[in-house]
Amino acid sequence: MQIAILSDIHSNLEALEAVLRSLKRYKPDTIVCLGDVVGYGANPNECVDLIRQHCHLVLQGNHDAALLDQQLKYYFTEHARIAIEWTLEQISTPRLDYLRSLQLTARMENLLFVHSAPTDPKRWEYIVDEYDAIKHFSSFQERLCFVGHSHIPGIYSEEGRKPLIDAQRRFIINVGSVGQPRDGDSRACYALFNTKTTMYECIRVEYKVELTVKKILDAGLPSHLGYRLYNGV
Ligand code: ZN
Repeated sequence: MQIAILSDIHSNLEALEAVLRSLKRYKPDTIVCLGDVVGYGANPNECVDLIRQHCHLVLQGNHDAALLDQQLKYYFTEHARIAIEWTLEQISTPRLDYLRSLQLTARMENLLFVHSAPTDPKRWEYIVDEYDAIKHFSSFQERLCFVGHSHIPGIYSEEGRKPLIDAQRRFIINVGSVGQPRDGDSRACYALFNTKTTMYECIRVEYKVELTVKKILDAGLPSHLGYRLYNGV
């Protein structure tokens, strides 16, 4: 089975549409979204609709959760909090209800999916290096755990710095971000994983960044949320 894994769309419609076009080429059997459909960008409603329409499994991220629990936004940076408040004014009630219905974790074959980290997902911890990752292997049984949240793609082995994917080792894999990459590459990012061959691929897709930035500025959202997209930071 070929699985496409998307995360952290963050209301970036142009990036999401580019990823969906790219997926037509690969024709995955299943599309999984690890959450943070909204926040930061100017098209929350459109992104919720597309994700709902195209993904077979969708999880809740911390920005989605912050629309539903007002306390969570106080843990956010100022720009992220402003974007959540703006999104709450824009998003329709049925779409909010949909985001409320999403789970925090899901399992498929020998794979675990979660937005942040497998140990107590509601703590919204970040995994950005092998030192973060190593704490979490004892909290799940599956061979691979796919995460998002940091917007930085990476593959972390249970045994620390070791050669990459083979049939025995266990891994935590960060699939990067569709709508706000932070690894210095402005292109949208998502992942493909084949459960039969165990082939893992990180795919990068160009999109119309200028249009996304213009929409963010026109919406009156913090300008930094637009300009950062040019550099993928
Ligand atoms: Zn995010």
